[in-house]
Amino acid sequence: MKNKIFRIIRFLTFNYYPFRFKKNSLLILMFHQVNDNKSKFYSAMPVKTFEILCEFIKKHYDVIFFSDIRTRINVKNKKPAAIITFDDGHRDIIENAFPILSNMRLKFNVNIDTEILETLKLQDFLKVYEILNYSQIDSYFNPKFMNEPIVINKEKPIITEMKFTEILSNLSTEKRKEFIDDMTQITNMKDHAFSKVLSPKDLKILNESALVEFGSHSHTHPTLTKVSREKLDFELSHSKEILEDIFKKKVEILAYPNGIFDETVEHAAKKAGYKYLLITNHTINLVTKRLVDEMIFDRVIQYHHSSEVALANTFGITKFLKKFLK
Ligand SMILES: [Zn+2]
Repeated sequence: MKNKIFRIIRFLTFNYYPFRFKKNSLLILMFHQVNDNKSKFYSAMPVKTFEILCEFIKKHYDVIFFSDIRTRINVKNKKPAAIITFDDGHRDIIENAFPILSNMRLKFNVNIDTEILETLKLQDFLKVYEILNYSQIDSYFNPKFMNEPIVINKEKPIITEMKFTEILSNLSTEKRKEFIDDMTQITNMKDHAFSKVLSPKDLKILNESALVEFGSHSHTHPTLTKVSREKLDFELSHSKEILEDIFKKKVEILAYPNGIFDETVEHAAKKAGYKYLLITNHTINLVTKRLVDEMIFDRVIQYHHSSEVALANTFGITKFLKKFLK
C-alpha cells in the first residue's frame, strides 16, 4: 500500500506542474552507510536500493560538485542539479558505493571527521549505534551520565537513537569516550566487531578517480554549538589541515556534525576558510544569487531500505513522509 502511494508521488512529481522540479533546483542527498547488514539502529541503505536511486538521479539530474554550483546561475539548465554527499567516512563508501558511482561516472562529495584517519575507528556516536545493533544489550544505565536507564526499543529504534544522541551531544569529547568505553566493556563488544572506516590510503584512491570532492566533518564530530571557542576553532582548522595535507589542495566544504550550527559556528567556519556549509533540514535548494552568497546548503537524508521510499524522499517531502510513516 505504502509503496503504491510512493509510486504515485514519484509519478506526480515528474509529470505534473506544480510538482515538477524547477530547473534551477539543487537536490543534495546525504548518505551514511550503504550495505546489506539489515541493522536496526542508524540503518544503512541496501546496496541495490542505492543503485536504483543512483540510476534515477543520473537520468533526471545533472550530478555536480559543490564547486560547480556557480556555473549554474543565470543559465538555462536542461535538468535540475543534484549533489551526492556522504558523511562519517564509513568504509562502505569505497567498498559498496564507489563501484556503483564510478561505473555510472557520477561525481560525489565525501565529508570526513578526520580523527578517524588517525584511530581508524568509528566515531563515538556510531559506536553506540553498533553496540545497540550487534550486542545483546536490552537496556543501559550509567548513573554518571543519566538519571534513569534507557530501554533499548528495537521496534522503534529511532526513539532509542534519539535518547543516546541527546546524552552524547551534551558530553565533552573525554566524557563521551568514557561513556562509550563503559558501554563497550559491559556489552563485551570486541574491536573487530565494529564496522570499518576509510583510511588515508582509501581517500587517496577515491581522490585519484577525480569523481570525489572532499569536505570536513570536523575532527572529532562534536556538536559544534556546545564546545568552547578554542575547541571550535581547533575542530574546524585541524580537520581542514589534515585533509589539505592529504590532497595537497584547498578543502572548502564543511558538513556540520549532526547538522547543528549557530551564528558563532558559522562565523568561525567562514573564518577558518570554509566556503560551502552543509546543513540537514531535508529541503531542496534553489540555485539563486542568494544561495551562492550565503553558501548554506540543505541536504535530504537517505537511509531508506525500500527504493520507493528512497525515491519519494528525493522530492523534498521528507518531513511529511516521516509523519506519514509513523
Ligand atoms: Zn556525522
